Formats: sequence, structure tokens, C-alpha cells
Amino acid sequence: MSARDKVLSHVRRHGSASRPELQTALGMSRPVVAAVVRDLLAEELLTEHQGENTGGRGRPGRRLRPRYPAGAVIGVDVSHRHLTVAAATLDLTVRTEHRVAIDVDTRPTAALDITADMIRRTVEEVRLTVDGPVSACAVGIPGPLDMNKRAIASPTILSSWAGLDLAAELGSRTGLTVSLDNDANLGALAEHRHGGADHRGNLIYVKASDGIGAGLIVHGIPVSGSFGAAGEIGHTQVIPDGDWCRCGNRGCLETIVSVRQVLQQVRHFYPGDTDLRARLPEIAQHPVARKIFAESGRTLGRVLANLCALLDPAAVVIGGEMSQAGEAFVDGVRDSIERLAQPGFDNRVLVVASALGTRAELIGSLTLARDIALRGEIRRAPSRSKTR
Ligand SMILES: [Zn+2]
Repeated sequence: MSARDKVLSHVRRHGSASRPELQTALGMSRPVVAAVVRDLLAEELLTEHQGENTGGRGRPGRRLRPRYPAGAVIGVDVSHRHLTVAAATLDLTVRTEHRVAIDVDTRPTAALDITADMIRRTVEEVRLTVDGPVSACAVGIPGPLDMNKRAIASPTILSSWAGLDLAAELGSRTGLTVSLDNDANLGALAEHRHGGADHRGNLIYVKASDGIGAGLIVHGIPVSGSFGAAGEIGHTQVIPDGDWCRCGNRGCLETIVSVRQVLQQVRHFYPGDTDLRARLPEIAQHPVARKIFAESGRTLGRVLANLCALLDPAAVVIGGEMSQAGEAFVDGVRDSIERLAQPGFDNRVLVVASALGTRAELIGSLTLARDIALRGEIRRAPSRSKTR
């Protein structure tokens, strides 16, 4: 990567930077940083602002911020129960968003058609309000993908999509460059980029809804594993002779911890109510539901405590519908992680509900699509800098 690309990527990733920070972070000399920044300001890819704090040498307090080129990207979140498609400008301002309820697992062929139609419609809409190209699209999938992230690896989810080159299929139907990733990986990416400062180190993100998946960030880099299945903790065996799981094993974590399980246990308190899921935050305050959420959290926490021993994360961020239904679930997760941590290390890992809520996966897909669009833009950019 050239000095120009390194500086531009750093400022875009961190939102802002000063010249001395760039020198330190990128190991570049002051004259090199000064020359590259001068070029990027001239190209209008960076803007300069007076920072709040003064200090340091040179022009103290001057901060550089990214200025994004015109254009938009598309993000898609495929979950077991609905499809969401959004378009955002390259500063990740969402301009249009559509969501439909569909049982994706039992209607995969229809779900594929609907996804392609929604993407086309969203592209048409955003083109009315945004200049520049709509180039990249990223799709979050609720299951493991193959090593090349082009197809679903496991036949146990979205079975009629398995084996299909999904990226090429959606690409040919929409005319966009389509990339796929596991939905929890995209949630982790969103939390790492847009969550709190404590999320910048090693991070575990967990999507807990009907399935349970984790996304891992190690040393700032998303980890998908040797075969694409890193973080599939939903199929960790918790009870050896427990209920059968859709994966063919027994007693997997997601046979015990899921929105469906919680609702099944409290259904008799709400006779005649056919859409309990829509009232989940309210139902979570029921004294019986609170106990079930807390115990579900403690069960998930026991699995995560093992993962914490392995990865030593700075933060465990709990997303998905379970995390948004009151504090009992996340408190339960924290309880187990702290109880099972090594002495001296307890209370160190931050265990929090996702600040992005159930939108983390969608924001992650837009972030990935934006990164891909900008990589193309960096490659196309003129080489005006003499400091490469
Ligand atoms: Zn399983």
C-alpha cells in the first residue's frame, strides 16, 4: 500500500487524525506525512478542522477528517425471519431502507427472488437522490460461508442456496459487485468500527436471536477461520443428551438459548396473543421471563467464558433480539464470564449489549460494501503524490 493509501485508510478508519498521530501510527516521517496530506487536501479527499485540544508541535490541534466521494452502497441483512436492504452514501448515512418478513429457511427460493428485487428497487431509489455510482453490495448470511465467501457452506441452513455461487447469482441479477459474509462477522465489524473505544482491541460479538453466532476481531482484523466457520458457537454442545438440533447433534447451545425457547416458556401467560415476538421487550419484564432470560444469559456466558480464556478479548458485545429485551440476559452473560474468569482477570472484559441493537448486522454489511467501494476508488485515484 502506498503512503497515500495508508494515510487515507487510517483517517477513514478512525474518523479523524492529526499529522503527529499519522506519523506515530504509520511510522512515517514528518515531511512524508505533510506532503501526502497536502495532496489529499488538494484532491478534496481530506478536510482540515481546528480540534478541541491544542498541544504538540507544528500546527497544534489541527485535525484531518475524511471527505467521501459521491456514490452509494447497498447492505443486505438476511436473517431467519426477515430480509432488510438499505442504501447508504459512503459516509454511511442511510438514505433508504426496506424490510420484509419472510421465513427464509422454509422459503429460500422466494427469499432469493425477493432479495434481488429489493436490491434493484433500493438502487433505483437511491439513484434519484445521490450522485455518483452505486457500485458495491454486501450481504450478511446467518450461517457459515465457504472459504471464498461466495456460497453457503452448511446444508443445514437455507438448503436450496447451498452450493449456489450466491455472490455471482445476486451480482448477475442486480448488476452490482456482491460480497457475502457471515452476519455475526458483520455485526463484529460494525461494533469494532462504530462501537465504543473499548471495542478496538480483541472483540467477541454475539448475535443471539433464533440462532447464535459469534464474530471475532483479533488484533483489529476480522477472523473467519481456516474454513470459514470461526465463531459458530451456536452448535457448541451444552447438554450431551439434550434436545436434537437442526445440525444433527444434541444439546447444542441454540437448542437452549433462543427467542423461540423463551417465548415457548411464557406463552401461557399471554393466551390468544399470536405475535409475542413483537412485544419481546415488554414480555422480558415479566418475572418468569426475566428468570428465563437471566438463565439463558448465564448458559451463553459459560460458553463465552471458554472463548474469553482463549482470546482474551477487551469487549464481549451481545447483539440480536435477545440482547435488546431488557438487561437480564446481558447481566446473565456477564455473571458467568466474571464467575468463571481466572482470579485477577475478572471484571476486566467489558460485557455490554450492542449499542447498534438489532441493526448491527445491517450496519456491518454497509460498512463492508463501503470498504470495497473505497478500495476500488483508491486504486483508481491519480498518483499525484511524489512521496510514494
Ligand atoms: Zn447444533
